[in-house]
Amino acid sequence: SEENITLLTSTASSEKIGELENDTISYFIKKKLRVWCKQPRWQWELGTIRSSSGEKASVLLSNGKVMKVARSELLPANPDILEGVDDLIKLSYLNEPSVIHNLKFRYSKEMIYSKAGPILIAFNPFKDLQIYGTGHISGYGQKFSDSHHVYALADAAYNDMIRDELNQSIIISGESGSGKTETAKIVIQYLVALGGGSCGIENEILQTNCILEAFGNAKTSRNENSSRFMCSFFIPISIEIDLFFGCVCLNPTHTRTVLLEKKALDTVRICEEDQELIFKMLAAILWLGNISFQVIDSENHIEVVDDEAVTSAALLMGCSSQELMTALSTHKTQSGDGAIVKGSTLQQAIDTRDATAKFIYSSLFEWLVEQLNNSLEVDKKCTSKSISILDIYGFESLKKNNFEQFCINYANERLQQHFIRHLFKLEQEDYKSDGIDWTKIDFEDNQECLDLFEKKPLGLLSLLDQESSLPKASDLTFANKLQQHLDANPCFKEQRGRAFSVRHYTGEVLYDTNGFLEKNRDTLPSDSLQLLSSCNCELLQFFSKMFSKSESQSNFLHTVALNSQKQGVGTKFKGQLFKLIHQLESTKPHFIRCIRPNNKQLPGIYDEDLVLQQLRCCGVLEAARISRVGYPTRMTHQEFSRRYGFLLSEANVSQDPLSISVSVLQQFHIPFEMYQVGYTKLYLRAQQIGVLEDKRKQV
Ligand code: ATP
Ligand code: MG
Repeated sequence: SEENITLLTSTASSEKIGELENDTISYFIKKKLRVWCKQPRWQWELGTIRSSSGEKASVLLSNGKVMKVARSELLPANPDILEGVDDLIKLSYLNEPSVIHNLKFRYSKEMIYSKAGPILIAFNPFKDLQIYGTGHISGYGQKFSDSHHVYALADAAYNDMIRDELNQSIIISGESGSGKTETAKIVIQYLVALGGGSCGIENEILQTNCILEAFGNAKTSRNENSSRFMCSFFIPISIEIDLFFGCVCLNPTHTRTVLLEKKALDTVRICEEDQELIFKMLAAILWLGNISFQVIDSENHIEVVDDEAVTSAALLMGCSSQELMTALSTHKTQSGDGAIVKGSTLQQAIDTRDATAKFIYSSLFEWLVEQLNNSLEVDKKCTSKSISILDIYGFESLKKNNFEQFCINYANERLQQHFIRHLFKLEQEDYKSDGIDWTKIDFEDNQECLDLFEKKPLGLLSLLDQESSLPKASDLTFANKLQQHLDANPCFKEQRGRAFSVRHYTGEVLYDTNGFLEKNRDTLPSDSLQLLSSCNCELLQFFSKMFSKSESQSNFLHTVALNSQKQGVGTKFKGQLFKLIHQLESTKPHFIRCIRPNNKQLPGIYDEDLVLQQLRCCGVLEAARISRVGYPTRMTHQEFSRRYGFLLSEANVSQDPLSISVSVLQQFHIPFEMYQVGYTKLYLRAQQIGVLEDKRKQV
């Protein structure tokens, strides 16, 4: 019967899937059921089998046309009754067209949240749906009208934290513009409300967000308000800007306007003096940007144009115009007898000016985050456990990709590995080592791509550092070096000239090495540092002191002085990323995958190809498959018997946790196929634990 076949496909191992799909299609053809037919290009059309002969079937499409289709181009469609199910694991046939269709149906009904087993899929609606806010939050703890609201996930994380006394994490990923930051805000809003934070803390958090965005966001082609930093919020409240990008063009004018208009700084109790300092620094950055140079000789040497920009910047920074002009127009080099001062060329002067402005900006941002954390400390002591919410910049593939995209995409690869480890690797290893009956399901692993980035000494990051330490190296020599050493890695693809490509889990991305070395070196010229530390401004002195300290602490591998290799921005970034992943490893993860339904940033448009590509990349289908045949609830025999043993109607003569556990399962008629008993743990299929939890609450 159809049911039997459904069961077969749903418990199939990957090796058998092809064979079974064939059987299923034979059955569909025989019974003249609904199928998906592959069309020219990608795309699938729904149709009903009319007749068949040999390897071909004739199908009546929904548009009235009849088509002859090869068996291999057919996939089973789900019965009507499953239209728009809220969890993909409820689909009888988990193939791509069915999934795409189901999500499209839900999206058209403004149901933007769906589940794929343990993963929450969140579509960006690109419009205000009126499904958030106090009225909706107050329903927490009860059933949500859409049980897969992001509030429900936040609620689950909170309950898990209390019940298991374990730190939790909510990891939000997805491409740029898919709605990660908005989702993070919604989660935070919910958790803050849940923590009883009625005394104005919500507003403080909102304002904190606003300040962070004012500093760390920029307009890109994909997103008007794109995050250029990676942020973890911890509830009880504190914030960590994990990886702030120094190498992007942020917009201090925007920052200043936002901060002024919204008076956010007052709300989070940044004192007036500090506020003044912040605005002073932002203004200094703006004036620095306006400083111009005049070329004075054939060797491109310059002098600084002595205008309002220089005077104002110097005044705000607390130095004389002359000091600032000297720092920008000259640089020191070491020679045998000591330092000699040389005039700078136009490019050197521009680089020094920009590096100085960027340094002040990023130091200011870091300093501000610390102030915000101090200000938010109020509620910190209520519990020792935390929920961290991670919002990272999404994967980016632009027309022209440079060092910034390189780092962003690498970070996404690392997080993808964390996701894979938790959902596929650890899960299946656990089944195996605990001796339960299980056939392995394959998944797309991105380890090879990570190796391409991380291998020492021949990986992208190491090679970049090596090349950055050579004074004569250029972006072109770097590109050549990559070709020479990385050709064997299947994720690397050589390109002409300065370019190279990486096969990321999301697809191939072409990088232009232009500026890689410079951005990786990210030097703050010693003259600028000296200037900043001598300025009559507490904040600038503090920033330069912190900088000198961190430089001397960690960045040099002291071998022979001349050979000493400085760690570049890329490698430091990797270090921060590892620290973050390490922190995440000690938490129970909850995953949200945000999806951008179209490239136009408009509501109501569902671009099937675009959605499919995102779903493929994030392994949603595999996760749903594993979850459907897997056992998402796992407890040791001891935990289980302690939690539910008291529900037994007759006292169990044996005190053995295993036999108590099995008696509980039998008493509440949990069907055999819904659980397995491992050496150390009990494994239950999705939705089985609910019965027992309900009983527990009733007692
Ligand atoms: P990036 O990686 O570039 O930082 P992102 O994934 O953080 O991108 P967001 O800034 O969260 O993307 O979302 C982009 C825009 O989409 C928002 O400015 C908002 O207009 C809209 N948006 C996202 N989520 C929602 C939502 N749940 N409801 C309404 N609008 C939303
Ligand atoms: Mg964002």
